[in-house]
Formats: sequence, structure tokens, C-alpha cells
Amino acid sequence: MIRIYNSLTNRMEAFKPIRENEVSMYVCGSTVYDNIHIGNSRPVVFFDTVARFFTFLGYQVKFVSNFTDIDDKIIRKAKQEETTETVISERYIASILDTYRALNCLPHYKNPKVTETIPEIVQFIELLVEKKGAYVVDGDVYFAIDQVADYGILSGQTKEKLIVGARIEENEKKENPIDFNLWKKTEEGLRFPSPWSEGRPGWHTECVVMINSIFHGPIDIHGGGLDLKFPHHDNEIAQAEVAFNHHIANIWMHNGRIDMAGEKMSKSLGNIIWAHDLVRTIGYQVYRLLLLNVPYGQPMTYRPELITQAETDLDKMMRPYIALKRKLQLEKKSIKVATSLTDASLKGLHQEFVEAMSNDFNTANAITVLFKVAKLLNSMLRSPELNETLASEVVFLFEQLTWVLGIEKALAPLTEEEIDLVRKWQQARQNKDFQTADHYREAVSQLGVFLS
Ligand SMILES: [Zn+2]
Repeated sequence: MIRIYNSLTNRMEAFKPIRENEVSMYVCGSTVYDNIHIGNSRPVVFFDTVARFFTFLGYQVKFVSNFTDIDDKIIRKAKQEETTETVISERYIASILDTYRALNCLPHYKNPKVTETIPEIVQFIELLVEKKGAYVVDGDVYFAIDQVADYGILSGQTKEKLIVGARIEENEKKENPIDFNLWKKTEEGLRFPSPWSEGRPGWHTECVVMINSIFHGPIDIHGGGLDLKFPHHDNEIAQAEVAFNHHIANIWMHNGRIDMAGEKMSKSLGNIIWAHDLVRTIGYQVYRLLLLNVPYGQPMTYRPELITQAETDLDKMMRPYIALKRKLQLEKKSIKVATSLTDASLKGLHQEFVEAMSNDFNTANAITVLFKVAKLLNSMLRSPELNETLASEVVFLFEQLTWVLGIEKALAPLTEEEIDLVRKWQQARQNKDFQTADHYREAVSQLGVFLS
């Protein structure tokens, strides 16, 4: 049984999929006026790990994440560069998709864009107007929060408090100061025809419409960064309540943010770490370990020492894995690994890993289990007689578990020439010809062969 902390109820809840053996997930993506930084990449890596775990358990996972390609920030950037918004958004969509791949994320089921969802968004706003959940003023459409009794249910804010806060920037067109914009009449930037005006949709509407168009009903899991909880996610829920009479998702999950040694990451502070730069430097395995070492709900403070730690951790687990795989090939001529587990202690570790992940995706504990598997790999490597079945099962287990965390690495078998090189090194050692052995040592070590 998988238990997940639901931000909507503030409780751990047993996961029960809406459709049998299927998991529907939606995570709010980026507004595409720039690349993503390490903070933006946390939900990307974490929810990819969630999707991988469900897949590992046999679920069919449909994971959707959008691109917001209509926004004031995109208009501003296009003006700065004297180009079109389409040029800007296409550039960053391509770049962000590249970053997703570099982070070893599985391809998403769909990556909808606002510009491709306009007819559905217009239809949806029409439905809200029809249901009296929205009103039209001079070509603009606003959501009427008074139509929702439990507005603010997710973040736990009361309407009264919010109204006091919103008074400062009061807009005379609104019936209630916290009503939010669904459609904006505009003469600037990309705009589309609608029954109300030529304009564009507000940000809070796109996700609800995308989810509904793709899944035709509520989904299992809606995720995003903690900073989206209010108002974005509360507004999504409010619209879904009026339009469809449900909360758009059964489970809401929010990841904590990443700070730079206590400061918020921002352009003005000049302390932004771009995800594509960092992953190019340290690789996806270290990158993912760095993020997954911290429980997703907690805030994380980035420090360069954490990278060193993750590098050491990765080396500790990958080195014996590669060495044992090499040993299997060299000694047993077996390149294929097992496809199931028969050994009881290995089954136990498998179970322990599943339990850690089933406990609200406790990736930190799951990594601890990987270390236990690495310890077994190590002891097998040092045992004088290699038990082929057992060794091949440990390798299989390790490959499965690293895949769930997205830190797996494809390892090509040694080529004939490489095997020949290892044989020469072994022969020289047997002959106590240490000079020749030393000559091959470095090359053999590079292949990941255990030097003992
Ligand atoms: Zn969203």
C-alpha cells in the first residue's frame, strides 16, 4: 500500500487510483521565458521518480506537465529581443525539454501548451459564466470567488483575510477584490478571438482545462512547488468545483523550495544555478542523488559540499556494481543478468526499498537501501568463489532500484580487445611480472574491473 501526504487534507492517505492499474498525474510546468534553475528542477526530478516508482510497481502512468507559453514575461522578453513571443517560447521549450532529458527524466505522456488549448479554454470559461462562477466586465472575464463556499481550502486561507490583503491593489472592475482574471482583453502580444473580446487567458485556468481535456475528469495526483499552493492551486480547485463539482485531483503534493545558503535564488542576487549548467558539470546521477537525498516536502539548502557528498555516494554504489558485472563477464562469461529474485535476503532488500518509497516517496531511505545492496555487491566481489546465480540477482536488483531513482547507467559489455587487455594484466600478475602488470593497471582500472 502506498501512502502519500495529501496537501489538501494535510494527512497521509492510502493511494487508491481512480482507474485500476493506472496513475494520472499532472505537474505544473514552466512559463517559457527562460531556462529552468535548480529550484525549478526539483519537482521535475522528484515527480519523475514518483512516475518511475509507479511504473516499477506495474501501473500504467500518464504523467502530464504543461508549458505556459502565453504570459507577460514572454511578451516582455520578446520586446527586449525585438522578436515574437513564439520565437521566445519555442526556444525555451526546446531548451527545457533538453534539460529534462539531461536529467534522465522519462518522456512525459503529454506536454500541452496554452497556445494549443485556446478553444478548450474559451469553452471552459463559457461554462463558468453560464454557471454564474464568472462574470464579464468590458471584455474581461473574472472568476467570482463568492460562488465557492470553501475558497482557499488547499492553503487554508480564509476569504476574509485574503480580502483585507487584496484591498491594496483593488481593481474597480472586480465584484470582490480577490476575484481573479480568467480572460484578459488585450491589444498587446498574442491574442485570440473569444465571445468577450480579443484577448488571452489568465494563468490559473490553463491547468484545469488541460487536465480535463486530457483525462476527462479528476486525476489521481496534482503536483507542483509549494509556492504554487496559493493562489494558483487554490484557484484551480475553485474553478473545478464550479465547473465540474470536484477538486480536479484526489491527491495534491507539494515539494519544498531550494535556497542558496539561506537566501532565495534570484536573478537580482545573481545566485542562480541553471539546471542545464549543473547537470552538464556533475551528470544526472549526482544531480538526482543531490535532490533525492532530501525528503521532497522539506526545504533544501544548496551548498557545494552536497555535491561532493553525492559524488562520493554515487561512487560507493556504482563502483562495486560495475566491478561485479565485469567479473561475471570475465569469469562466468555471463553478460545477461537475472530477471527475477529467488534469494530471500535480496527479496527482503527489494521489499525494504518498496516500503521506503511507499511511505510518501521517502527517497532518502530508499537510497539507504541501495547502500545495503552495494555492500552485498562488494562482499560478493571479494569472495573467492563467485556464486553466479546470486551475483547476477544482486546485479538485477541494483539495476532495478537505480532505475526507480533515475540514476541507472547503461553499461556496455567489455569488447574482445578490452577482455584481452584484462587477460594480459591477469597473466602478468600471475607471473609476478609486476612491471608489466603495472603497465596495464590504469587501463584495466578504467574499465571498472576490480583490482583487489
Ligand atoms: Zn498549474
